[in-house]
Amino acid sequence: MPASPAPAPLTDQQAGLLNQLTDGLDGSGLWWLSGYAAGLARGQALVTRPAPAIAAPVTGATASPTLTIVYGSQTGNAKRLAEKLAAQSEAAGASVRLLRADAYPTRELKDERQLYIVISTQGEGDPPDDAIGLVDFIRGRRAPKLPELKFAVLGLGDSSYPQFCEIGRVLDARLAELGASRLFERGDADLDIDSVATPWMARAVEAAKALAKASPARSATVTPLRPLPAAPAFDRDRPFDAELLAGHALSAPGGLRTPRGRDVRHFELSLEDSGLHYEPGDALGIWPRNPPALVQGVLDALGLDGDQAVDLADETRPLREWLGDKRELTRLSRPFLAAHAERAGDAALGALLEPDGRDALARLFDEQQVIDLLQRHPAQWDAASLVAALRPMTPRLYSIASSQKHAGDEIHLTVAHVEYAVDGQSRWGCASNFLARATEGDRLPVYVEANERFRLPADPTRDIIMVGPGTGVAPFRAFVQERAITGASGRNWLFFGNPHFRTDFLYQLEWQRALRDGHLDRIDLAFSRDQAHKVYVQHKLRDQGREVYARLEEGAHFYVCGAIGMGKDVHAALLDVIVEHGARSAEDAEDYLARLQQQGRYARDVY
Ligand code: NAP
Repeated sequence: MPASPAPAPLTDQQAGLLNQLTDGLDGSGLWWLSGYAAGLARGQALVTRPAPAIAAPVTGATASPTLTIVYGSQTGNAKRLAEKLAAQSEAAGASVRLLRADAYPTRELKDERQLYIVISTQGEGDPPDDAIGLVDFIRGRRAPKLPELKFAVLGLGDSSYPQFCEIGRVLDARLAELGASRLFERGDADLDIDSVATPWMARAVEAAKALAKASPARSATVTPLRPLPAAPAFDRDRPFDAELLAGHALSAPGGLRTPRGRDVRHFELSLEDSGLHYEPGDALGIWPRNPPALVQGVLDALGLDGDQAVDLADETRPLREWLGDKRELTRLSRPFLAAHAERAGDAALGALLEPDGRDALARLFDEQQVIDLLQRHPAQWDAASLVAALRPMTPRLYSIASSQKHAGDEIHLTVAHVEYAVDGQSRWGCASNFLARATEGDRLPVYVEANERFRLPADPTRDIIMVGPGTGVAPFRAFVQERAITGASGRNWLFFGNPHFRTDFLYQLEWQRALRDGHLDRIDLAFSRDQAHKVYVQHKLRDQGREVYARLEEGAHFYVCGAIGMGKDVHAALLDVIVEHGARSAEDAEDYLARLQQQGRYARDVY
């Protein structure tokens, strides 16, 4: 008689239900589920239902775990690192809980014994949206003394901004001030994140291992359950080569071309056979390549041979390939500028890195690319040193402009082609030009970056208010498509702005059709340069303040997407609306907005 097979852990029906449950869950949802199931297996008290913002309590909701990892993330990098750190620390034997900053119960801070914070800094030294509350709490007077706590902080940032990794720095200093002991030095990771993050994480995992050894009883209770479905076949490190199906101009000829051009384009790519899934609000990551002519320009400026092989960190490639695919040529960095100033023996250039050179440095970063520096301040570079000094290429994120339920295997983007001139020579933004150069049929390396904080209301009857000037309108095209196809009954209200009605009314026909079909309840337009004075979306918001406030009071969700400065101005306008129409003090209005944010009813996607 053949041996009977080992009983399957799940019946077919259970397996089917599990598939349904996990279908479309992202990493944090799967992590949450794994912790929940681990807790069930241990028969311990559990939260009965996932709190939406809790990313991943790996151990289930038990007594305080040995190690807490908190992340604040705007574009997903801090989240990705924190998830990896949680998995590695757990594999090292530690009992871990992983939380997004806005899900962290601040009253528990005083009971923590070991805490890792992974957090990015936005623009001019601001925290990511999901960490505003936690950063305020730790900075503020209500933060408790923390004599028992051991901690470590990994900051993420962009060194071309003066307040590089400011939030990581502030938290690191403040935790020490509150009496906590630093396990090891803070990491300040620049856009080439891994060069700082990898060694920092290795130390963090070592410290987690030591902690697990010191408290073996507790760590022995952990029953790690890995998320059941394998990781998606394609991600940031293994992008999918998506075929470009179509690309066309959205802004009409004759639109503004100065100072940086406003040639906005619509692109359609195919995700066929990728298995990639996206939700409205998510972004598409693109790994761009530099244009061959720019690479040749750099080679010529330095008199280097593009065919020579260069070895770096176990990779050997021709110099031309390093510069084309693997290194940033359109964004300067502080370390490269410092190295170049030294090679050029140019003290004035080096002085820009001093604190009082801050404004001039910001202008230089804004106006010049690597090739401009090489041409204006000649210096000798050998191929290997050049590759080592330049910043590694990083992917660019674009808010997705389509709903997958509507577009099927396609994914749509709204991209401003960045184009300007330096010394009479054309300069381009790396990724927007990579897209603009591509022709139909080309394949471009992409991945989906989930954005859990920018989601349509789960309740389809809720109203939504969307503020998206310029290319910031992209995710709202996806929102409206999704709400139309799912038959959501809540009202959709769009505030859109751009320079001119005639040339820059992006997706005009689609909005008109949506209005006609009832998929858009109203649209308010701010064409900034069609009259003598500027008119911006926040002016329209103030004009409509009474109705905006009324809809918020009825439970509407409010969304903003676009440039950082606009996001700040819209925030200020929204506070004014709440003060005026809610008859509240300025402080109450701040609390009102903070509550909306906590409830996931005020979401911003700005950078
Ligand atoms: P843009 O430069 O933002 O301009 C769009 C409109 O906004 C113009 O009419 C402009 O007027 C106006 N504007 C300028 N300053 C403003 C302010 N402080 N408040 C309100 N309106 C203001 O448009 P774009 O070229 O399409 O660029 C969009 C920006 O959004 C870029 O910075 C891009 O990186 C960002 N973006 C972010 C995301 C995201 O976070 N996911 C997605 C898409 C785009 P004037 O030019 O006449 O002053």
